[in-house]
Amino acid sequence: MKLRTYLLLANCISIAFIIGFLLVSFQYMLVTKKQLVWLVTATIGSGIASAGLHFLLVRPLESSVRRMRDGAASIASGDLKARVTQQTRLAEFRDLAVQFNAMGASLDRSFAQVKAAERAQRELVANIAHDLRTPLASLQSYAEALEDGIVQDEESFGRYVSTIRSETIRLGELIQDVFDLSTLDADKAMNNPDAQSEAAVFEDSLVGLLSRFAPQLNAKSLHLRVLAPERSLAIRMSAVHLVRVLQNLIENAVRHSPEGGIIVVEAKELPERRIRICVTDEGAGIPPEERERIFERFYRVEKSRNRAGGGSGLGLSIAKLLVEQYGGEIGVEPATGQGSRFWFTVREA
Ligand code: ADP
Repeated sequence: MKLRTYLLLANCISIAFIIGFLLVSFQYMLVTKKQLVWLVTATIGSGIASAGLHFLLVRPLESSVRRMRDGAASIASGDLKARVTQQTRLAEFRDLAVQFNAMGASLDRSFAQVKAAERAQRELVANIAHDLRTPLASLQSYAEALEDGIVQDEESFGRYVSTIRSETIRLGELIQDVFDLSTLDADKAMNNPDAQSEAAVFEDSLVGLLSRFAPQLNAKSLHLRVLAPERSLAIRMSAVHLVRVLQNLIENAVRHSPEGGIIVVEAKELPERRIRICVTDEGAGIPPEERERIFERFYRVEKSRNRAGGGSGLGLSIAKLLVEQYGGEIGVEPATGQGSRFWFTVREA
Protein backbone atom coordinates (compact mmCIF):
# COMPACT_ATOMS: atom_id res chain seq x y z
CA MET A 1 0.00 0.00 0.00
CA LYS A 2 1.26 3.49 -0.86
CA LEU A 3 1.98 5.96 1.94
CA ARG A 4 -0.62 8.37 0.49
CA THR A 5 -3.38 5.69 0.39
CA TYR A 6 -2.45 4.65 3.92
CA LEU A 7 -2.87 8.22 5.23
CA LEU A 8 -6.16 8.67 3.32
CA LEU A 9 -7.50 5.45 4.82
CA ALA A 10 -6.48 6.59 8.34
CA ASN A 11 -8.31 9.87 7.69
CA CYS A 12 -11.48 8.11 6.50
CA ILE A 13 -11.49 5.78 9.53
CA SER A 14 -11.19 8.82 11.89
CA ILE A 15 -14.10 10.56 10.12
CA ALA A 16 -16.19 7.36 10.25
CA PHE A 17 -15.54 7.08 14.01
CA ILE A 18 -16.60 10.70 14.64
CA ILE A 19 -19.75 10.34 12.51
CA GLY A 20 -20.58 7.07 14.33
CA PHE A 21 -20.14 8.82 17.65
CA LEU A 22 -22.43 11.71 16.50
CA LEU A 23 -25.13 9.22 15.36
CA VAL A 24 -25.04 7.43 18.73
CA SER A 25 -25.28 10.85 20.46
CA PHE A 26 -28.32 11.69 18.29
CA GLN A 27 -30.00 8.37 19.18
CA TYR A 28 -29.60 9.12 22.87
CA MET A 29 -30.87 12.65 22.10
CA LEU A 30 -27.72 14.31 23.23
CA VAL A 31 -27.74 16.43 20.03
CA THR A 32 -30.61 17.79 17.94
CA LYS A 33 -31.11 16.83 14.28
CA LYS A 34 -30.01 20.29 13.19
CA GLN A 35 -26.85 20.00 15.32
CA LEU A 36 -26.21 16.51 13.95
CA VAL A 37 -26.38 17.72 10.33
CA TRP A 38 -24.14 20.65 11.11
CA LEU A 39 -21.57 18.53 13.01
CA VAL A 40 -21.46 15.78 10.37
CA THR A 41 -20.99 18.39 7.59
CA ALA A 42 -18.22 20.07 9.62
CA THR A 43 -16.53 16.70 10.29
CA ILE A 44 -16.62 15.67 6.60
CA GLY A 45 -15.44 19.15 5.55
CA SER A 46 -12.49 19.12 7.98
CA GLY A 47 -11.74 15.50 6.98
CA ILE A 48 -11.48 16.53 3.32
CA ALA A 49 -9.36 19.60 4.22
CA SER A 50 -7.06 17.47 6.40
CA ALA A 51 -6.73 14.83 3.62
CA GLY A 52 -5.73 17.60 1.19
CA LEU A 53 -3.21 18.95 3.69
CA HIS A 54 -1.78 15.46 4.27
CA PHE A 55 -1.54 15.06 0.54
CA LEU A 56 0.59 18.20 0.26
CA LEU A 57 2.71 17.55 3.33
CA VAL A 58 3.48 13.97 2.38
CA ARG A 59 4.91 14.93 -1.04
CA PRO A 60 8.46 15.84 0.09
CA LEU A 61 8.48 12.70 2.21
CA GLU A 62 7.49 10.61 -0.80
CA SER A 63 10.08 12.19 -3.09
CA SER A 64 12.84 11.62 -0.49
CA VAL A 65 11.85 7.97 -0.18
CA ARG A 66 11.76 7.71 -3.99
CA ARG A 67 15.28 9.17 -4.28
CA MET A 68 16.62 6.72 -1.69
CA ARG A 69 14.89 3.85 -3.51
CA ASP A 70 16.42 4.91 -6.87
CA GLY A 71 19.88 5.30 -5.28
CA ALA A 72 19.68 1.85 -3.67
CA ALA A 73 18.48 0.35 -6.99
CA SER A 74 21.45 1.90 -8.85
CA ILE A 75 23.90 0.50 -6.31
CA ALA A 76 22.19 -2.90 -6.45
CA SER A 77 22.59 -2.89 -10.24
CA GLY A 78 26.35 -2.32 -9.88
CA ASP A 79 26.67 1.47 -10.18
CA LEU A 80 28.71 2.03 -7.02
CA LYS A 81 29.21 5.71 -7.91
CA ALA A 82 25.43 6.42 -7.48
CA ARG A 83 24.70 9.04 -4.82
CA VAL A 84 21.45 10.68 -3.59
CA THR A 85 20.92 14.43 -3.14
CA GLN A 86 21.23 15.69 0.40
CA GLN A 87 19.02 18.73 -0.35
CA THR A 88 15.82 18.07 1.57
CA ARG A 89 13.84 19.99 4.21
CA LEU A 90 13.37 16.84 6.29
CA ALA A 91 16.25 16.52 8.75
CA GLU A 92 15.91 12.73 9.17
CA PHE A 93 16.07 12.19 5.40
CA ARG A 94 19.06 14.54 5.14
CA ASP A 95 20.90 12.39 7.73
CA LEU A 96 19.79 9.25 5.94
CA ALA A 97 21.08 10.64 2.60
CA VAL A 98 24.46 11.55 4.19
CA GLN A 99 24.76 8.02 5.63
CA PHE A 100 23.63 6.47 2.35
CA ASN A 101 26.27 8.41 0.39
CA ALA A 102 28.98 7.53 2.93
CA MET A 103 27.99 3.85 2.60
CA GLY A 104 28.16 4.15 -1.23
CA ALA A 105 31.63 5.77 -1.07
CA SER A 106 32.91 3.10 1.30
CA LEU A 107 31.50 0.31 -0.91
CA ASP A 108 33.12 1.92 -3.95
CA ARG A 109 36.51 2.14 -2.18
CA SER A 110 36.36 -1.45 -0.94
CA PHE A 111 35.39 -2.69 -4.39
CA ALA A 112 38.28 -0.76 -5.99
CA GLN A 113 40.67 -2.29 -3.43
CA VAL A 114 39.40 -5.80 -4.12
CA LYS A 115 39.77 -5.23 -7.87
CA ALA A 116 43.30 -3.83 -7.45
CA ALA A 117 44.26 -6.81 -5.25
CA GLU A 118 42.85 -9.23 -7.82
CA ARG A 119 44.74 -7.47 -10.62
CA ALA A 120 47.98 -7.52 -8.60
CA GLN A 121 47.47 -11.22 -7.85
CA ARG A 122 46.93 -11.99 -11.54
CA GLU A 123 50.03 -9.99 -12.53
CA LEU A 124 52.06 -11.71 -9.83
CA VAL A 125 51.07 -15.16 -11.05
CA ALA A 126 51.76 -14.16 -14.69
CA ASN A 127 55.19 -12.75 -13.74
CA ILE A 128 56.10 -15.82 -11.70
CA ALA A 129 55.00 -18.10 -14.51
CA HIS A 130 57.06 -16.10 -17.02
CA ASP A 131 60.15 -15.99 -14.81
CA LEU A 132 59.95 -19.72 -14.13
CA ARG A 133 59.42 -20.56 -17.79
CA THR A 134 62.47 -18.64 -19.05
CA PRO A 135 65.19 -20.48 -17.09
CA LEU A 136 63.30 -23.76 -17.42
CA ALA A 137 63.25 -23.39 -21.22
CA SER A 138 66.97 -22.75 -21.38
CA LEU A 139 67.65 -25.62 -18.95
CA GLN A 140 65.63 -27.91 -21.18
CA SER A 141 67.37 -26.85 -24.40
CA TYR A 142 70.87 -27.12 -22.87
CA ALA A 143 70.09 -30.52 -21.31
CA GLU A 144 68.68 -31.77 -24.65
CA ALA A 145 71.78 -30.54 -26.50
CA LEU A 146 74.00 -32.49 -24.10
CA GLU A 147 71.76 -35.55 -24.35
CA ASP A 148 71.81 -35.48 -28.18
CA GLY A 149 75.60 -35.34 -28.17
CA ILE A 150 75.68 -32.06 -30.13
CA VAL A 151 78.42 -30.75 -27.87
CA GLN A 152 81.69 -32.44 -28.73
CA ASP A 153 84.54 -30.31 -27.40
CA GLU A 154 85.31 -30.04 -23.69
CA GLU A 155 85.14 -26.24 -23.59
CA SER A 156 81.57 -26.07 -24.94
CA PHE A 157 80.57 -28.91 -22.65
CA GLY A 158 81.87 -26.94 -19.66
CA ARG A 159 80.01 -23.82 -20.83
CA TYR A 160 76.75 -25.73 -21.19
CA VAL A 161 77.08 -27.30 -17.75
CA SER A 162 77.92 -23.95 -16.18
CA THR A 163 74.86 -22.34 -17.84
CA ILE A 164 72.68 -25.15 -16.51
CA ARG A 165 74.14 -24.54 -13.03
CA SER A 166 73.60 -20.75 -13.16
CA GLU A 167 70.02 -21.14 -14.45
CA THR A 168 69.33 -23.65 -11.65
CA ILE A 169 70.68 -21.15 -9.12
CA ARG A 170 68.55 -18.38 -10.62
CA LEU A 171 65.46 -20.61 -10.41
CA GLY A 172 66.24 -21.43 -6.79
CA GLU A 173 66.66 -17.72 -5.97
CA LEU A 174 63.37 -16.84 -7.65
CA ILE A 175 61.51 -19.55 -5.77
CA GLN A 176 63.10 -18.36 -2.51
CA ASP A 177 62.11 -14.73 -3.27
CA VAL A 178 58.51 -15.69 -4.03
CA PHE A 179 58.38 -17.78 -0.87
CA ASP A 180 59.83 -14.91 1.21
CA LEU A 181 57.31 -12.47 -0.26
CA SER A 182 54.35 -14.69 0.59
CA THR A 183 55.68 -15.27 4.13
CA LEU A 184 56.18 -11.52 4.61
CA ASP A 185 52.68 -10.81 3.27
CA ALA A 186 51.25 -13.30 5.75
CA ASP A 187 53.28 -11.70 8.60
CA LYS A 188 52.03 -8.28 7.56
CA ALA A 189 48.42 -9.49 7.50
CA MET A 190 48.85 -10.89 11.01
CA ASN A 191 50.75 -7.77 12.13
CA ASN A 192 53.44 -10.13 13.48
CA PRO A 193 54.17 -8.95 17.05
CA ASP A 194 57.40 -11.02 17.34
CA ALA A 195 58.99 -8.80 14.70
CA GLN A 196 59.17 -5.90 17.12
CA SER A 197 61.05 -7.68 19.93
CA GLU A 198 64.17 -8.98 18.13
CA ALA A 199 67.55 -7.21 17.81
CA ALA A 200 70.56 -7.45 15.47
CA VAL A 201 74.09 -6.04 15.67
CA PHE A 202 74.83 -3.99 12.56
CA GLU A 203 78.57 -4.77 12.36
CA ASP A 204 78.07 -8.53 12.85
CA SER A 205 75.45 -8.68 10.09
CA LEU A 206 77.69 -6.71 7.74
CA VAL A 207 80.85 -8.75 8.42
CA GLY A 208 79.01 -12.00 7.63
CA LEU A 209 77.70 -10.50 4.42
CA LEU A 210 80.96 -9.01 3.17
CA SER A 211 82.72 -12.35 3.14
CA ARG A 212 79.83 -13.69 1.02
CA PHE A 213 80.26 -10.85 -1.49
CA ALA A 214 84.08 -11.12 -1.72
CA PRO A 215 84.14 -13.13 -4.99
CA GLN A 216 81.78 -10.71 -6.78
CA LEU A 217 83.67 -7.66 -5.47
CA ASN A 218 86.97 -9.15 -6.66
CA ALA A 219 85.55 -10.11 -10.04
CA LYS A 220 84.68 -6.46 -10.78
CA SER A 221 87.60 -4.98 -8.79
CA LEU A 222 85.13 -3.10 -6.61
CA HIS A 223 86.12 -1.33 -3.40
CA LEU A 224 83.77 -1.51 -0.46
CA ARG A 225 83.98 1.16 2.24
CA VAL A 226 82.11 0.98 5.55
CA LEU A 227 81.34 4.14 7.56
CA ALA A 228 79.77 3.58 10.97
CA PRO A 229 79.90 5.08 14.47
CA GLU A 230 82.66 3.80 16.80
CA ARG A 231 80.19 2.17 19.15
CA SER A 232 78.35 -1.03 18.35
CA LEU A 233 74.88 -0.50 16.84
CA ALA A 234 72.12 -2.75 18.14
CA ILE A 235 69.17 -2.57 15.78
CA ARG A 236 65.55 -3.46 16.52
CA MET A 237 65.19 -5.98 13.71
CA SER A 238 65.82 -9.71 13.44
CA ALA A 239 69.40 -10.43 12.24
CA VAL A 240 68.07 -12.58 9.37
CA HIS A 241 65.91 -9.70 8.13
CA LEU A 242 68.64 -7.05 8.50
CA VAL A 243 71.05 -9.28 6.55
CA ARG A 244 68.38 -9.80 3.87
CA VAL A 245 67.80 -6.06 3.38
CA LEU A 246 71.54 -5.28 3.31
CA GLN A 247 72.18 -8.22 0.99
CA ASN A 248 69.53 -7.06 -1.52
CA LEU A 249 70.90 -3.50 -1.56
CA ILE A 250 74.58 -4.53 -1.79
CA GLU A 251 73.76 -7.12 -4.47
CA ASN A 252 72.13 -4.38 -6.59
CA ALA A 253 75.05 -1.99 -5.93
CA VAL A 254 77.52 -4.66 -7.08
CA ARG A 255 75.42 -5.45 -10.15
CA HIS A 256 75.10 -1.82 -11.23
CA SER A 257 78.63 -0.60 -10.32
CA PRO A 258 81.17 -0.02 -13.08
CA GLU A 259 84.48 -1.95 -12.98
CA GLY A 260 86.71 -0.61 -10.20
CA GLY A 261 83.87 1.43 -8.63
CA ILE A 262 83.44 2.24 -4.96
CA ILE A 263 80.49 1.05 -2.88
CA VAL A 264 79.90 2.79 0.45
CA VAL A 265 77.85 1.24 3.26
CA GLU A 266 77.13 3.87 5.89
CA ALA A 267 75.22 3.83 9.19
CA LYS A 268 74.28 7.23 10.62
CA GLU A 269 72.57 8.01 13.91
CA LEU A 270 69.39 10.12 13.67
CA PRO A 271 67.41 11.83 16.45
CA GLU A 272 65.00 9.73 18.56
CA ARG A 273 67.26 6.63 18.52
CA ARG A 274 66.77 6.01 14.82
CA ILE A 275 69.49 4.88 12.42
CA ARG A 276 69.76 5.53 8.70
CA ILE A 277 71.68 2.93 6.71
CA CYS A 278 72.77 3.83 3.16
CA VAL A 279 74.30 1.82 0.35
CA THR A 280 75.84 4.10 -2.29
CA ASP A 281 77.25 3.04 -5.65
CA GLU A 282 78.77 4.74 -8.68
CA GLY A 283 76.49 3.10 -11.22
CA ALA A 284 74.28 4.72 -13.86
CA GLY A 285 71.71 5.81 -11.25
CA ILE A 286 67.94 5.58 -11.47
CA PRO A 287 65.81 7.99 -13.56
CA PRO A 288 63.60 10.19 -11.30
CA GLU A 289 60.34 8.77 -12.76
CA GLU A 290 61.41 5.22 -11.84
CA ARG A 291 62.40 5.91 -8.23
CA GLU A 292 59.03 5.01 -6.69
CA ARG A 293 58.25 2.17 -9.07
CA ILE A 294 61.41 0.12 -8.48
CA PHE A 295 60.00 -0.92 -5.08
CA GLU A 296 57.04 -2.62 -6.80
CA ARG A 297 57.05 -6.37 -7.28
CA PHE A 298 58.74 -7.55 -10.48
CA TYR A 299 59.43 -3.98 -11.60
CA ARG A 300 62.71 -3.52 -13.43
CA VAL A 301 64.12 -0.38 -14.97
CA GLU A 302 65.66 -2.35 -17.81
CA LYS A 303 62.41 -3.47 -19.44
CA SER A 304 63.81 -6.44 -21.34
CA ARG A 305 62.97 -9.55 -19.43
CA ASN A 306 65.94 -11.51 -20.70
CA ARG A 307 67.86 -10.29 -17.67
CA ALA A 308 71.48 -10.74 -18.60
CA GLY A 309 73.01 -10.13 -15.19
CA GLY A 310 69.68 -8.93 -13.77
CA GLY A 311 67.61 -10.24 -10.88
CA SER A 312 63.97 -11.17 -10.50
CA GLY A 313 62.73 -7.64 -9.75
CA LEU A 314 61.68 -8.77 -6.27
CA GLY A 315 64.72 -7.72 -4.22
CA LEU A 316 63.64 -4.16 -3.45
CA SER A 317 60.01 -5.08 -2.75
CA ILE A 318 61.20 -7.67 -0.23
CA ALA A 319 63.51 -5.05 1.37
CA LYS A 320 60.61 -2.57 1.55
CA LEU A 321 58.25 -5.10 3.16
CA LEU A 322 60.92 -6.01 5.72
CA VAL A 323 61.85 -2.43 6.63
CA GLU A 324 58.22 -1.35 6.92
CA GLN A 325 57.42 -4.38 9.05
CA TYR A 326 59.73 -2.82 11.68
CA GLY A 327 58.23 0.67 11.32
CA GLY A 328 61.06 2.02 9.12
CA GLU A 329 61.18 3.71 5.72
CA ILE A 330 63.14 2.94 2.57
CA GLY A 331 64.00 5.04 -0.46
CA VAL A 332 66.53 6.01 -3.07
CA GLU A 333 68.17 9.28 -4.03
CA PRO A 334 70.84 10.24 -6.54
CA ALA A 335 74.35 9.93 -5.12
CA THR A 336 76.69 12.90 -5.21
CA GLY A 337 78.42 12.78 -8.57
CA GLN A 338 77.17 9.62 -10.19
CA GLY A 339 75.18 6.62 -8.96
CA SER A 340 72.41 5.89 -6.49
CA ARG A 341 72.11 5.98 -2.75
CA PHE A 342 69.60 3.48 -1.33
CA TRP A 343 68.69 4.20 2.28
CA PHE A 344 66.48 2.76 4.97
CA THR A 345 65.74 3.70 8.55
CA VAL A 346 65.57 1.39 11.55
CA ARG A 347 65.17 1.84 15.32
CA GLU A 348 67.98 1.32 17.77
CA ALA A 349 67.31 -1.54 20.21
P1 ADP B 1 66.42 -7.05 -9.27
O1 ADP B 1 66.50 -8.29 -8.44
O2 ADP B 1 65.96 -7.27 -10.66
O3 ADP B 1 67.63 -6.18 -9.13
P2 ADP B 1 65.19 -5.20 -7.52
O4 ADP B 1 63.82 -5.18 -6.96
O5 ADP B 1 66.31 -5.41 -6.56
O6 ADP B 1 65.20 -6.30 -8.63
O7 ADP B 1 65.44 -3.87 -8.32
C1 ADP B 1 64.45 -3.37 -9.20
C2 ADP B 1 65.11 -2.55 -10.32
O8 ADP B 1 65.71 -1.39 -9.74
C3 ADP B 1 66.24 -3.27 -11.01
O9 ADP B 1 65.75 -3.93 -12.13
C4 ADP B 1 67.16 -2.15 -11.44
O10 ADP B 1 66.78 -1.68 -12.70
C5 ADP B 1 66.88 -1.04 -10.44
N1 ADP B 1 67.99 -0.91 -9.46
C6 ADP B 1 68.07 -1.47 -8.24
N2 ADP B 1 69.20 -1.12 -7.63
C7 ADP B 1 69.88 -0.31 -8.48
C8 ADP B 1 71.13 0.38 -8.42
N3 ADP B 1 71.92 0.30 -7.34
N4 ADP B 1 71.49 1.12 -9.50
C9 ADP B 1 70.69 1.20 -10.59
N5 ADP B 1 69.49 0.58 -10.71
C10 ADP B 1 69.10 -0.18 -9.67
